[in-house]
Amino acid sequence: MKSQLDEKLQAIYQEVLYRNPGEAEFHQAVHEVLETLGPVLGKYPEFVDKKIIQRICEPERQIIFRVPWRDDRGEIQINRAFRVEFNSALGPYKGGMRFHPSVYLGIIKFLGFEQTFKNALTGLPIGGGKGGSDFDPKGRSDSEIESFCQSLMLELYRHIGEYTDVPAGDIGVGSREIGYLFGQYKRITNRYESGVITGKGLDWGGSRARKEATGYGVVLFTHEMLKSKSDSLAGKKVVVSGSGNVAIYAIEKAQELGATVVACSDSAGFIHDERGLNLETIKRIKEVERRRISSYVESHKSARYVPGSSIWAIPCDIALPCATQNELTGRDAKVLVENGCRVVAEGANMPTTPEGVQLFQLAGICFAPGKAANAGGVATSALEMQQNASRDSWSSEYTQKRLEDIMVDIHASCYETAGEFGAEGDYVAGANIAGFLKVARAMSALGVI
Ligand code: GLU
Repeated sequence: MKSQLDEKLQAIYQEVLYRNPGEAEFHQAVHEVLETLGPVLGKYPEFVDKKIIQRICEPERQIIFRVPWRDDRGEIQINRAFRVEFNSALGPYKGGMRFHPSVYLGIIKFLGFEQTFKNALTGLPIGGGKGGSDFDPKGRSDSEIESFCQSLMLELYRHIGEYTDVPAGDIGVGSREIGYLFGQYKRITNRYESGVITGKGLDWGGSRARKEATGYGVVLFTHEMLKSKSDSLAGKKVVVSGSGNVAIYAIEKAQELGATVVACSDSAGFIHDERGLNLETIKRIKEVERRRISSYVESHKSARYVPGSSIWAIPCDIALPCATQNELTGRDAKVLVENGCRVVAEGANMPTTPEGVQLFQLAGICFAPGKAANAGGVATSALEMQQNASRDSWSSEYTQKRLEDIMVDIHASCYETAGEFGAEGDYVAGANIAGFLKVARAMSALGVI
């Protein structure tokens, strides 16, 4: 179920549907933003005259290319890759690369669109972009991953640069892939241009706390939401979906702030232990051994593994969806509400369906959308760019302090903007409007370009 759009916005949305056929996720992301922009257009008619929303919905540039490579048996494989350079009003395009078989243009466009507002919310000088490939890293050897990354960069290098477009990681792209991508960029261009890509290793230009930043940021945002209600994470029961980078460091920060994380998952199923999960084991399985989460129960007899069904059936106070888009449906939201969940913060990008978001809001749940709650990752990428530009390397404490301050500011800006536009406590409206206003003002100042 979708909410009605303001009349002017309805026409714009119809045009988006018409111009971008078959891209359901992109349509969904655009609708979720337009839903909240009605009051903004009333207050700023110049944005209507300047067709800012129509321009924001159209990526500045979309690159689609073939990635041929050879697997370990010598067989040629062909993948398709994308880089969508969405909006550069606030800075160079910035956003991750996703390697997953579900990737197609509609997914990359939804992610690039979201990234534009998310990056604006960080207050740092970064525009929005996203890329990826339908390459499936599952079961591939190191050398296959290396060949694929090198072939992909052989085309991508001509489109990126520290002042142009700065990729990073996302699902299926971690420090190993970033290493191969950066190495190939350096070889082709003969330039040690650290600021061309973020998420680098600590020995070769990376930022301390970048790996932890998205997950930590989600929990820091949650902490701010609770604080505004004179509450805290201490003693709360938390369910985190996923077991990738975002999930792992969300669990770490939640545990550090006194919560008990009772469940996490991968695409095959979830693990559950009412006594709390052991993060060291999860890190070993996922970061070192690269195995499925089901193997957790081999070393923890009090835990159970449940294949296939929804992790959201587990009662909790706080739910942190950190897996992928549309993983938390209207049905899941209903169960969470019935089980007494009070707070939901999105670690993944658009993990809650529109029905789910609506149900949470009707039930008065404190709901933080991904573009605000998970902005700590890209914010720390922007900090990595700062360090690279000044050939500096900051301590972990300093970087984490900067991340904390940024998350506090994002929370304040969403909270205050929602209040200003008559939507007290609505973080979806607050995030969309605050992000939109920053981009719209810059676009307006830069002319029709
Ligand atoms: N992929 C991450 C995101 O969704 C991070 C992007 C980056 O660091 O550039 O925000």
